[in-house]
Amino acid sequence: MQRQSLIRYLLIATLMTFALIGYSQKTYIHCGNLIDGKSDRPQSKITIIVNGNEIESVERGFKKPGADDKLIDLSGKTVLPGLMDMHVHLEMETSPTRYSDQFRLNKTDVAFRSIRYAERTLMAGFTTVRDLGGTGVNISMRKAIEGGYIPGPRIYTAGKSIATTGGHADPTNGVKYELMDDPGPREGVINGSADARKAVRQRYKNGADVIKITATGGVLSVAKDGQGPQFTDEELQAIVATAKDYGMVTAAHAHGKEGMKRAILAGINSIEHGTLMDEEIMDLMKKHGTYYVPTISAGRFVAEKAKVEGYYPKLVVPKALELGPKIQQTFTSAYQKGVRIAFGTDAGVFPHGQNGKEFGYMVEAGMPAMLTIKSATMVAAELLRIDDKLGSIESGKLADIIAVDEDPIKNIATLEKVTFVMKDGVVYKQPNP
Ligand SMILES: [Zn+2]
Repeated sequence: MQRQSLIRYLLIATLMTFALIGYSQKTYIHCGNLIDGKSDRPQSKITIIVNGNEIESVERGFKKPGADDKLIDLSGKTVLPGLMDMHVHLEMETSPTRYSDQFRLNKTDVAFRSIRYAERTLMAGFTTVRDLGGTGVNISMRKAIEGGYIPGPRIYTAGKSIATTGGHADPTNGVKYELMDDPGPREGVINGSADARKAVRQRYKNGADVIKITATGGVLSVAKDGQGPQFTDEELQAIVATAKDYGMVTAAHAHGKEGMKRAILAGINSIEHGTLMDEEIMDLMKKHGTYYVPTISAGRFVAEKAKVEGYYPKLVVPKALELGPKIQQTFTSAYQKGVRIAFGTDAGVFPHGQNGKEFGYMVEAGMPAMLTIKSATMVAAELLRIDDKLGSIESGKLADIIAVDEDPIKNIATLEKVTFVMKDGVVYKQPNP
């Protein structure tokens, strides 16, 4: 009798101790090879121990999990940090009807479609993305993903991007006068520095994380010019200064030189596409610490589709043919010159989930495979200023971990077929046994 109560007492005491110290099941991941996002070389036979949504430790050799822990065997794979794409548009996807869709689709239609795009992005191994412009559905989507309602990557979103009247991303470009109306700061169209400040503040109020502007004309807008500057210095300074007040990172879409120059001098954090940048611009970017987000994938895709009769409106075709193929050459020069390059694709301009193709284009253009991976992990995390919690596989960071079947240093195309995805400690994709 006495012995039984002693056992019962010990059992209760043990359970209470576990409850007090917060005992939890850990996950041991055996990695055949590990590219951790920081080291210059892959390491072999490593165990990552995940506790909750955090990486608890990274250890040499295959450690044996405890009786209550879980083992994920990736001993035949190469394991990497979750990939990060600094330029996507989760609300849209290329289609020959894209230009007339805006007259047929409600925001709810856009939202339901976007769920698919977000899921495809995550399953392709991209656990974090920066959404550089939609209608604002992208803010609701971030909340839905954070709340666990739908699967998708971590989103840092610009909401609706900021343009000037008639500029790239003015939402009423190319429509008949009665439908043009006069969009303002709320819709992301500004004229003057007061408008500029208001547009940034409105985005902050709406729940955007970052600010995106369209510093020059663009390829896919129904407008003649794809290169000229579209903001004054005063407008740019007002946008950057206001964004800084709210701790928001800023990004500028830009093809032509003058628009890039003005944006860099105003203190923008990244130049997107950067198609016609020359040595002077590259030097300026290095001096000001401006990141380059190339989006070679988008350039190649639009140049190819422009040859398909009727795929794009007539005003778009010559711009796509001229600017599209140039991005990859610009990337080569910028890399050789030492401009800091953060991985970005412009997914949505081409189908979501194909983001991984960009790695191959970067390697083809002269960047070593390991550096392309860093640009999509540590460098991207630094651009977003979240490198304290993401971008590498290290103890204390969030458990965003992926795996591929082959060694990406030998075959970069393996990054187009990610076979394991963990985000925030939760497994979304497992390799076939
Ligand atoms: Zn874009």
